[in-house]
Amino acid sequence: MKNKNNMYKLSVTQWNPFAGCSHDCKYCKSSFQVQIKRWAKKHCDKCYIFVPHEHPERLGQSLPTTGYMQFIFACSSGDVAFCRTEYLREIVARMRRERDRTFMLQSKDPRTFNRVTFPGNVILGTTLETNRDRGYEAISRAPKPSRRYLDFLTVKHKAKMVTVEPVLDFDLDMMIAWVENINPRMVWLGYDSRKNSLPEPDLEKVKQLHWQLSREGFLVVLKKTRDARRNVKRCKQTKVEKKIAGRRPGRGPAE
Ligand code: SF4
Repeated sequence: MKNKNNMYKLSVTQWNPFAGCSHDCKYCKSSFQVQIKRWAKKHCDKCYIFVPHEHPERLGQSLPTTGYMQFIFACSSGDVAFCRTEYLREIVARMRRERDRTFMLQSKDPRTFNRVTFPGNVILGTTLETNRDRGYEAISRAPKPSRRYLDFLTVKHKAKMVTVEPVLDFDLDMMIAWVENINPRMVWLGYDSRKNSLPEPDLEKVKQLHWQLSREGFLVVLKKTRDARRNVKRCKQTKVEKKIAGRRPGRGPAE
C-alpha cells in the first residue's frame, strides 16, 4: 500500500503484516479508518471493521529501500499492542534481515515494545497528544498519556519518535520535559485533520512548543493539516525542515 498519509511524508511505504486496533480513539474513525475502509471494502473484512488481525501473507512481501530520513511504516494500519508476541517476533525478524532499510513502528501502549528486542534499523514511536490525563478517557481507551510516557522511558532502544498529533491542550513545560527525557530522533506535531471537536490548544501555544523544541535541537516535523497550512505564513519552517524537504533520498539505516 502506498503512503498517502500527509503526516508521514518520509514514509516510503506502509507495510501491514499486522492490522487493526482496539484503542478506539475518537479521532480515528473519521480520519484514518475511513481511508482503510475504502481499500478494505473489497479486500479484507477484518481490516474493514478494524479488528486486530494478522496478514502472514505480507511477511515476505517485497519492500522498497529507504533513504536519508526515510522509513517503511510497519503495521501502520493498527497497533501492535494487540499482536501476539510470537507473531511480533516474526515481523521483527523480517526487519532484522533488512539491514539497509529503516522501519517505523508505533504504539499507543509502548510497554508492548518491551516484549521483543528490536534491531537498530527500527524507530519505535508513541503518540503523546497531550501530557494531561484528565478527561482523556473521552478521547481514547489507550493508556493515559502519563502512563504512556513512563512506559516509553522503560523501552531501552536508541531510535525513538514521538507524535504530538492530533495535538490536545497541554502544559508547555511538562510537554517539553517529556520530550527531553525521551530524547526522540524526531517529533511530529499537528492538529486534528478532521472536525472531531477535540480540546485543542491555541496556535500560540503550539508555536511555542515547536519553537522551544527546535531551539533545543529536536527535529520537529510539522504535519500539513488544515491548521498547519493556514499557519505556514505565521509559523516558518525551520532550516532543518527545509533541508529535509529538499533533500534527495540516499540510502542507509537509522543507525
Ligand atoms: S491507536 Fe491509532 S489505530 Fe488505534 S484507534 Fe487510536 S488512532 Fe486508531
